[in-house]
Amino acid sequence: MTRIAIVDNEKLKDMQQKLYIQSICPVNRTGKECIKVIDSKLTIDEHLCTGCGICPKAAPHAIKIINLPEELETKPIHRYGENKFVLYSIPTPTFGKVTGILGINGIGKSTAIKILANVLKPNFGDWNIHETGYDELIEFFKGKEAQGFFEKIKKGEIKVAYKPQQVDLIPKTTKGKVVDLLKKVDEKNELKKIANELQLNEILNNDIAEISGGELQRVAIAATVLKNANLYIFDEPTSYLDIKQRINISKFIKSLINDNNSILVVEHDLIILDYIAELVNLMYGKEDAYGIVSGVKPVRNGINVYLSGYIKEENVRFRDSTIKFAEKPPIKKKHIKEVITSWNDVEKKLGNFALKAHKGSIHKNEIIGILGENGTGKTTFVKILANVLKQDKGNITHKVRVSYKPQYLEVSDDLVVDVLKTAFSKYENQIIIPLNLQQLSLNKLSELSGGELQKVAIAHCLQQDADLYLLDEPSAYLDSEQRLVLSKVIRDFIEQRNASALIVDHDLLFVDYISDRLIVFEGKPAIEGIITGPFEMEDGMNKFLKELEITLRRDPETNRPRVNKLDSRLDREQKEKGNYYYV
Ligand code: SF4
Repeated sequence: MTRIAIVDNEKLKDMQQKLYIQSICPVNRTGKECIKVIDSKLTIDEHLCTGCGICPKAAPHAIKIINLPEELETKPIHRYGENKFVLYSIPTPTFGKVTGILGINGIGKSTAIKILANVLKPNFGDWNIHETGYDELIEFFKGKEAQGFFEKIKKGEIKVAYKPQQVDLIPKTTKGKVVDLLKKVDEKNELKKIANELQLNEILNNDIAEISGGELQRVAIAATVLKNANLYIFDEPTSYLDIKQRINISKFIKSLINDNNSILVVEHDLIILDYIAELVNLMYGKEDAYGIVSGVKPVRNGINVYLSGYIKEENVRFRDSTIKFAEKPPIKKKHIKEVITSWNDVEKKLGNFALKAHKGSIHKNEIIGILGENGTGKTTFVKILANVLKQDKGNITHKVRVSYKPQYLEVSDDLVVDVLKTAFSKYENQIIIPLNLQQLSLNKLSELSGGELQKVAIAHCLQQDADLYLLDEPSAYLDSEQRLVLSKVIRDFIEQRNASALIVDHDLLFVDYISDRLIVFEGKPAIEGIITGPFEMEDGMNKFLKELEITLRRDPETNRPRVNKLDSRLDREQKEKGNYYYV
């Protein structure tokens, strides 16, 4: 059996702990050197390790011992170092098609993309080798589709353009005006056309350091497509974008495809992935330990297999449970429940922006989803309800204690265990374990990834004693699996506490999955925001989807929502009946 050991030496406390771990290994006790400590570094010999499980128990935050599936007796494609992450395969782009990549965070999606984009040279598991050429890659993939792909790269027939995942890092390395950045990469002489299509004209003369996350995302996409390439790779192209922008970007990316090029997209918003891609590669494995890529599948089937947690053809179960969606939207409840907060003709002006909320209320034990475009005042309204901002006009009954998770997360040098003291002592089963936060307990907030920081911020919000929990964009930075787990955590928690929650989010499937009712924001971004609702799910979704001009149907196998093709029979029928939302 192939076994891998992953060791994070930085998470081991001190030399004393390392020597203790070495002393308890049964293989070491027989006189062999399975665990070594040299130059203060603990390493594990994967050939000698019997997988007894003693050392990971002694240091669960720092050591993982993993028995790989039998089928995986193959050579890895890349390993970052001794007892470090290992990747076993990579997705293969198909010409004339958009191929999606779906999988949890931390299983090598970005590593695979860097290999395809020729940014990272793979070492085939031998981390002492630093330089490999295409011949090794061609040999490695002999007989597989990827062989042809790397042969083309070797002949210079493939040119790659790559949009990185973390667009928020762009201002740290690139300075100056947006237009100057785009001019530099405009190999096709199409700046005007692309800026028009991506609605960038108004920010072309702005400084890159001053534009918003959603604008940065669109600039990064423009910079990618302006390059003369025939393989375009988009790593998470919709983060920071609202639903309307997500649909527009999906249409834009789809429109780029032709017989002579290929597009790869990593995306965690399942409705968008389903809409944008024709094919999908599933990636599975263990977070921060190893990653494998499944054979390519048609997108509908691929997402359904992903939700089921079992790849039949490869006989691999990568999740214990199947993710299911309810057959019908929540049954209309008679809201005789206690009102916990309400508002009446609230108005707020911030510079040139005006926000208006007519009349609405929130009841005990319900979750209300908030949908709307960026720049229509969602965060402002949430802040008014949280009493962080004061309204100019109108009434709000603030008889509730509010706990608020903001959209942008603050980083500090505090330890996770200190920030989440109450959650660790009172809500271990409800919050800490399902969100997988135990292993981060000794990390500083400043050391966490975006997804980890998001989970800590959500736990921090939920651990407060409150009647109303306001969560602003909780799905950002989380992978699709974490989003579904999170919806269950929030639902169960709200029910147990007999509290209520308001959730602002742009992942339509997440909002659909978690909400009892909906508030819809209308108006013009940066000018006016009008708050309507809360509505029952069907009414709220119909209102919102009508604005977007899209209709949703249910997948017959999993009941998950899917976007109908524009002008398809179903799309036309549903629009005629006013059923934009499935029933
Ligand atoms: Fe030793 Fe392996 Fe057991 Fe750890 S899991 S104690 S390395 S045999």
